[in-house]
This record gives sequence, structure tokens and C-alpha cells, in this order.
Amino acid sequence: MTVTELDLVVRNGLVVTGSGESVTDIGVRDGVIVQLGGSMTGAREIDATGRLVLPGGVDMHVHLSPVEVGEETMPWADDFVSGSRAAAAGGVTTIGNIGFGKPGERLVDLVQRVGADGSRDSLVDFVVHPVLMEPDEGTAADIERLAELGHTSVKIFMSIGDFDVKLPAFVNALDSAGKHGLLSMVHCEDACVIEHATAGLLAEGHKELQYYPDSHPELSERMAVNRIVAIAEATGAPIYIVHLGSAAALTEARAARARGQRVYVETRPIYLYFTEERFAGEDGPLFVGNPPLRGAGDQAALWAGLAAGHVDTCCTDHAAWTLEDKLDPELTIATARPGMSELETLIPVLYSEGVRKGRLTLQRFVEVTSTNAAKLFGLFPQKGTIAVGSDADLVIWDPDAHRPIVGAEGMSRSGYSLYEGWDVVGAPAQTISRGEVVYSDGHVQGEPGRGRMLRRGPTRDL
Ligand SMILES: [Zn+2]
Repeated sequence: MTVTELDLVVRNGLVVTGSGESVTDIGVRDGVIVQLGGSMTGAREIDATGRLVLPGGVDMHVHLSPVEVGEETMPWADDFVSGSRAAAAGGVTTIGNIGFGKPGERLVDLVQRVGADGSRDSLVDFVVHPVLMEPDEGTAADIERLAELGHTSVKIFMSIGDFDVKLPAFVNALDSAGKHGLLSMVHCEDACVIEHATAGLLAEGHKELQYYPDSHPELSERMAVNRIVAIAEATGAPIYIVHLGSAAALTEARAARARGQRVYVETRPIYLYFTEERFAGEDGPLFVGNPPLRGAGDQAALWAGLAAGHVDTCCTDHAAWTLEDKLDPELTIATARPGMSELETLIPVLYSEGVRKGRLTLQRFVEVTSTNAAKLFGLFPQKGTIAVGSDADLVIWDPDAHRPIVGAEGMSRSGYSLYEGWDVVGAPAQTISRGEVVYSDGHVQGEPGRGRMLRRGPTRDL
């Protein structure tokens, strides 16, 4: 048998995918996995003895492009440069960036504009999810064109007042999206309930951020999930509920799934580690995100759902602010700044709190951080697994690394972390994107712009 030289060989690691684990050598050529097991030699070799080898993380919910509100442009602390560096340092090799349109901009133009920023600046591969704000007579054609170009997702906000005003057009858009293989990502909070609750609190003089959970009551999420599930049933369209945060909303989604609907659920880190009591603290404003933190029962339901397969992904909703911006004393429940930096900590903290503490199996951990998102967003098996023919997106994982989190040393420009000082056990030793080491032992390597915008297939059921 001839032994051909490969570009990269990863030896002796415990290779973990969503379907199994075994000690296997991995051979890479031209950025693609070409051999699993058997004799091989590589121009570069990585000894992964005692380490896990995981498929690169797939975080399909990040904000690295400014939000366009009318004529205003509101930037986040992170853009594609710093955000994709944080991704690499955290073991995430594919990101899904939410793109907001400028006034009058069509969805395809939006994806191409934001995609050009990513192609110039991103260290890791990415996709763009265009936000549909203004559905109109041209939207069906726009969605068809997105599908042709391999951009198979769209994002909708029920939490913005116009959703109800334009409901018939949104329903038609969901219908078109489903028919063309797009997955519709839906922010489920009811705008009317939020407005009503916020106005009531302001009238009582309760403008401080400690009242934030009351301004976005649990009912608003449950009601929105219930409605979107019904709309999805009416249209047959698959939906992906972003950052689901409450037990009651999860019950609605589970019931839909049990009826055979394609209703998929994402949660995000903050709901797994923090509860609404945080708002009473001096640093309460740091925990403002939408929907807000809920109670211990909600937290337990999300962990159980993640383990049992009722919650399909854990993605970040990385939306970074600086500490100063978050703690601005002028902020009220009506002007709060939701969002936080999570890309670098997503996988290490979930491993530490989930796998190490026995809440998630290793395989389930890989599914919720990589495989499921790759399938749902039309990227599998190019991404989300370790198989011959897949991109060589790998994380060489040190399961015993003790790495206290220091936000100021992170790659995000937010400069702080919600997990400051947490002694997290388990961390990436190396992150490899298409066969290239982009992170190694504390250092990000590689140039902005090496990441590629991915062409995707239709959404795939789990
Ligand atoms: Zn988001």
C-alpha cells in the first residue's frame, strides 16, 4: 500500500462527532478531510494524544454588522475582524451573521453587501442571514433568488411593531421561504405585550433596568411562539426559534414538533447560566438581552431540553457592547442595550458546565454546538462533522485545561466577559479552519479575509 503525503495529519485524538467517537487519525489535503484512519504522513502533523478532536463549532447567530435603523447606523463593539477572531479562539469555525438592510435595499443586495464585508474581514467561514423588515410584492422573487444563490435563511422579528401591521405579507414570505428550502429564523416576542408592559412600568416610575424582565414578560415570548407555530403550520414552512428562553415557550415548540411540524429551537448561553435575580445586582444591566433572563425552572427546562433533543442548538446571539455602553446610567427599560459578547466562551463554558457536570453527553454537546446547526442551515456535511469529504474544520480540544476567563484578554472588543473569573475546564488547544491552524494556545493566527462566504443547500431536517 502506498502512503501518500498529506498537507496535515492529526494523530491519536479521540474524534467525536454527533454519531460516535473513536481514536482515529485524520488526513487533510487542500482543506478537506481525505482520509480517516490507516497509514498516512503529513507535511504538518499535530499530535492529539489525550485530546478530543471535535468538528469546528457552527454558531449561526452572531451580530458583527451594524444595525440599520432608518437612516441611522448603529455599530456593535465587534465587527467581522474582531468577532471572527473571537470565534477562532473559542473553537467556532463557521458563523452566521445577521444582516440588516438599509432603507429600500433588497434582500439579495443586502446579503451581497454584508457578504463583501465578511469576505474582506472574516478569519473564519461565514453565512449571512438577511433580516426581512419590509415584505412586499417583490419578496417572493427575492427569496427565490436567495435560494438560487445558496443563501438559504432569512430572519424575522416579531418583536418589532411592524410585524403585526404587515402580517399578511410576512405570512406570504414565510410560505415562500418554506417552498424554496429556506429556514426562517424568528425572534419570538410580542411587540404589543412589550409596549404595554413597558408603558405601564414607566407610568409607575419604574424605568430602571432592574425592571427589565417585567417590561418583556414571559407571556410575550409564549404568545409569539404560539402564533408563529400556527403560522408555520398554516404555511408548512420550517421555522427556527432563535434564543428561546422560557419553559412555557419550549412547551409550545415541543408540542408543535410532536405534531410533526418542523419547528426547531435555539437557546443561548445566558439562559443556561444566569437567572433573573441578576437584575437586582449592581451589574444587572450587563445581563440585558432579549428575551430577558427568567427563573430557575426555565433554566432547568432548557438544560433538560438541550440534553433530550427538544432544544436543537446553543448559539450565541453574540452582540457585543463595551462595559461603559452596557452600564450607562442613562439607560432605561425603554432604551436598554440588549446583547453581550459570547463567541469566545460559548463552547468552553458549555463543555465545562454541560459535559463536565454530566448534563450533556459529548455527542450531544457536538450536536448542539456544531452538527445540528450545520444541518438546519444547509451546510452539512461540508460543515458540522468529521468525515471524508468534509471541510477540515477541527478543534483540538484539551479536556483538562483550566483557563480562568479574563474578558480584557479576549479577542472581542467588548473588553469584559459575563464569565469573568470563572474557572472553566476544557478549552481549544488549536482551532483549524479548512486545514489551516487559525488559533493555537492563546494566539489567533491567519489574516482577516481568509474566511469565505459559504454557498448553502436547502435546510435539512434533524
Ligand atoms: Zn440576535
